Amino acid sequence: MANYKNLIEKMINLYIISNGIHDSAVIDAIRSIPRHSFVEESFSELSYTDAPLPIGHKQTISGIYTAALMTSVLELNKNHKVLEIGTGSGYQTAILANLASEVYTIERIRELSLKSRTILDNLDFKNITFIIGDGSIGFKEYAPYDRIIVTACLSEIPKSLIDQLKDGGIIVMPVEIDYKQNIFVIKKNNDKIEKKIIASANFVKLIGKSGFAA
Ligand code: SAH
Repeated sequence: MANYKNLIEKMINLYIISNGIHDSAVIDAIRSIPRHSFVEESFSELSYTDAPLPIGHKQTISGIYTAALMTSVLELNKNHKVLEIGTGSGYQTAILANLASEVYTIERIRELSLKSRTILDNLDFKNITFIIGDGSIGFKEYAPYDRIIVTACLSEIPKSLIDQLKDGGIIVMPVEIDYKQNIFVIKKNNDKIEKKIIASANFVKLIGKSGFAA
């Protein structure tokens, strides 16, 4: 797609900056990633709007505002080891990998994991580890993490994720309570846990132990 750089600038202005997100590191990361590469060709132009689009297997790529918001609250830097639960298209993974040191991303649907890996390899990302499996209880093998992001909706805040977070770490995740989804930010300091709701959300459900039945 020839004119995608202009579409990215428009998207940044319309859906990110005008909605109050001014984090320049996050905006630069978004500017550097061709979002249309993560969707079917027929959705290329639409990928630069705020619509959540289908990526197959009844899953969706998150809207750009939500992706920017969730990334900005993580306050990422180049020393951070990040766990992402719900690779999906791999677009959010690309933003994380641009801002952090290492990203471990877990996806339960094999075809989606493989597809996202091909796209991210083609874009030359070298700091991403792809895991196929149930991430609803995190991923102990590489723990602890500086940051954890969940991009499918949980039914509770899993204790295992808090256990896998380093002291001083941050988790961002959508949780459904009474049929309403909210994005929670959780901070761990000296083993004290602070929870805050930052927005409502509309994610696909996480399937698994701290999520929903398949
Ligand atoms: N951030 C992604 C959004 C993916 S949608 C993007 O922008 O493309 C959520 C993804 O979570 C789906 O691909 C779904 O298959 C995956 N998922 C659901 N339950 C999961 C689980 N228990 N472990 C890992 N991935 C899961």
